[in-house]
Amino acid sequence: MEETVSRNFIEQEIDKDLAEGVYDHVQTRFPPEPNGYLHIGHAKSILLNYGLAEEYGGKFNMRFDDTNPTKEKTEFVESILTDVKWLGADFEDRLFFASDYFPIMYEKALLLIRKGKAFVCDLTADEIREYRGDFRTPGRESPYRNRSVEENLRLFEEMKEGKYPDGSKVLRGKIDMASPNINMRDPVLYRVAHQSHHNTGDKWCIYPMYDFAHPIEDAVEHVTHSICTLEFEDHRPLYDWVVRECEFENPPRQIEFAKLYLTNVVTGKRYIKKLVEDGIVDGWDDPRLVSIAALRRRGYTPESIRMFVDLVGVAKANSSVDYALLEYCIREDLKLKRPRMMAILDPVKLVIDNYPEGQTEELEVPNNLENPELGSRMVTFGRELYIEREDFMENPPRKYFRLFPGNEVRLMSAYFVTCTSCEKDADGRVTVVHATYDPATKSGSGFAERKVKGTIHWVYAGSAKQVECRLYENIVDEEKGKLNEDGTLNLNPNSLTVLKNCYVEPALAEAKAYDSFQFVRNGYFCADCKDSAPGAPVFNRIVSLKSSFKLPK
Ligand code: ATP
Ligand code: MG
Repeated sequence: MEETVSRNFIEQEIDKDLAEGVYDHVQTRFPPEPNGYLHIGHAKSILLNYGLAEEYGGKFNMRFDDTNPTKEKTEFVESILTDVKWLGADFEDRLFFASDYFPIMYEKALLLIRKGKAFVCDLTADEIREYRGDFRTPGRESPYRNRSVEENLRLFEEMKEGKYPDGSKVLRGKIDMASPNINMRDPVLYRVAHQSHHNTGDKWCIYPMYDFAHPIEDAVEHVTHSICTLEFEDHRPLYDWVVRECEFENPPRQIEFAKLYLTNVVTGKRYIKKLVEDGIVDGWDDPRLVSIAALRRRGYTPESIRMFVDLVGVAKANSSVDYALLEYCIREDLKLKRPRMMAILDPVKLVIDNYPEGQTEELEVPNNLENPELGSRMVTFGRELYIEREDFMENPPRKYFRLFPGNEVRLMSAYFVTCTSCEKDADGRVTVVHATYDPATKSGSGFAERKVKGTIHWVYAGSAKQVECRLYENIVDEEKGKLNEDGTLNLNPNSLTVLKNCYVEPALAEAKAYDSFQFVRNGYFCADCKDSAPGAPVFNRIVSLKSSFKLPK
């Protein structure tokens, strides 16, 4: 049977526009406001817009929507560009700033005034709100609505020259105060704000409002499909009004989709900012967050995020996606690509008493059992090893197949060993486990006389490197409620565990920032880009190996 490829609703709209000749090409854009770091939701928007451009042989623009001078910073411009490039959304040489279009926006405002479609209004912000009415009450017309074109031109010009203080005058569209859509009730198009702008400096003291600026930005760039999130659905009639009345040829159209939300994490800028400011997390890129910088630092790959976004798809209704789906994607991506190394997170010493003192040997260990192409490496073995503390029990329960006195296990890629005894400190804590090995059982020797049920991993104490590993849990526990009664976040106190006494194969000490590995049984880990030093990496656990998560069919 032939595979049917289902098209999402945005693709269906684009197919239709192309078939009907509304557009002869596809042009999309990603238009962030540089007022914070990008998060996983933005990644969805970026990859959706970029993916559509690619799919239709069109182009994708990167545009900063920097029309509001109060909240924007160059620091955010830099971080956003880094993130977009890292995700692989190639905007080539099409990097734009909405503030570069201020002169065009001003011209278009003059055009609207001349057409009798805009007027200067002296009502205060509170009065404008009051006059606007609500869902039940129609709005009332501003007393300034019927100023002459000449007067409006003069006043708008004077607003631009700086003659009026902030808040004293605005330019408004003259649309319909009785419209059932409140956005159409003579919306504010321009406001006075005596503020320096990060790009245009003090050149302007009037700034366009988002609903006026955004459609013009799209139209100037010949965007065809302006894809945005659902909260703008009610603004669409205004979007259409602006591009029509500003007389753009072949104007863009807006299509809305649902925002992406994730369970058990914090996506709102406001909450993240508070976590950063309160020192609860280590900056905007703390690996427990889902900013793109944080995901990258944690060890997520662009491929895994692309897979995630594809699996989530585009929807018309808001919903939350299980964080476990993101984890599924990174496991899938790393599974065949990364070497499987031995690392002991909670070490206890294993002494093999019948192994000659001072002797070592090199054993061949496959790098990835599922992908032979990754080859193998040589690992040193000797008399004293580190194993996981949980791999020994003096008095084990039934079905415990690891080390306990009298039991034999396989040391991964090495020999069978039989546990003989253990040593303990004054508190009864095990300090050393003793065992003997059987030289005839060397891995790869073809030995098959005995079966053992347990296999454990190890590192040779003589050359293992001590490193720090960090384990993470969800920062909020959604099951217990994301927010406390007082509106603060219900934080998981165990979201970070720092293990300073881990032992890893010496090769891992050379790991560079962002290098990632599978640590046998313990999960996938990535060398931290901030806190690692040469020869002394710090490893972040990206994700554990197993989960009960099943991909929905
Ligand atoms: P936030 O509310 O997190 O600050 P925002 O919408 O204010 O986000 P912008 O910089 O204005 O952020 O958004 C840039 C683009 O990213 C917009 O097109 C917006 O619709 C889209 N976007 C923002 N959040 C999400 C999300 N959670 N899912 C999908 N797209 C999103
Ligand atoms: Mg915003």
